[in-house]
Amino acid sequence: MSVKAKKHLGQHFLTDESIAKDIADSLSLSGYKKVLEIGPGMGVLTKYVLEKPIETFVIEIDTESVEYLQTHYLTLAPNIISKDFLKYNLKEVFEEEPFAIIGNFPYNISTQIVFKTLEMRDQVPEFSGMFQKEVAQRICSKKGSKVYGILSVLAQAFYDCEYLFTVPPTVFNPPPKVDSGVMIMRRKENYKLDCDEKLLFTVVKTAFNQRRKTLRNSLKSLNLSDKLLEDAIFALRPEQLSVEDFISLTQKIAADGI
Ligand code: SAH
Repeated sequence: MSVKAKKHLGQHFLTDESIAKDIADSLSLSGYKKVLEIGPGMGVLTKYVLEKPIETFVIEIDTESVEYLQTHYLTLAPNIISKDFLKYNLKEVFEEEPFAIIGNFPYNISTQIVFKTLEMRDQVPEFSGMFQKEVAQRICSKKGSKVYGILSVLAQAFYDCEYLFTVPPTVFNPPPKVDSGVMIMRRKENYKLDCDEKLLFTVVKTAFNQRRKTLRNSLKSLNLSDKLLEDAIFALRPEQLSVEDFISLTQKIAADGI
């Protein structure tokens, strides 16, 4: 008996074992002793993560999948968290310990998964897995690229992001409408930024919310002084700024005293 795929939960079960193994093998296993898989479904990826010399936890919203895992992966049973990843406070399981995140993620909540991970960056040294290709590419893209945006700048501020490989719809049941992409984020050694990190989030989001405008126009709501706005950086559009440029922009805005 297998789990019936539910569309509203973004369920597309991977049927290609070698891809599951490749995703599990992307973990470096260094700097942490625990790993959390988001959305294990029927456990095609879990099986390969469990082979690693590391303690595996899974978090799954679908009770039918949870029941399947409990009966098919007996050793995993105590580490199955039957919750919504977006709502659950993971400190209840991991306290202050570091843990890696892995998954063939539910695509309907991709962006939110990355944002929650960024919030937990102090505890998450590595994050690896599969998204729809466009999202995986966006996370890893550099300035000047059409898909460079909020997710790219904020993920790359704290993590080295690498696009690994593309996966076609044919290896899922049911097949999604889009190609998928596997990527990995490895936290930078120096991930404490030389700027107000909260302000960086605000600046990046505000700038990209009007990505065709120059920063002079898109950042108006931040009430910047006329003197600061004379700085040449404000004549640029957000996709022209590297991560380092956004950090130095944030420093300038903080020094502007608002
Ligand atoms: N990893 C499995 C399933 C991928 S489908 C495989 O590769 O076959 C995505 C999985 O994420 C589904 O099992 C779905 O129930 C689960 N899921 C969806 N939203 C979730 C959430 N908010 N928290 C935890 N799991 C979620």
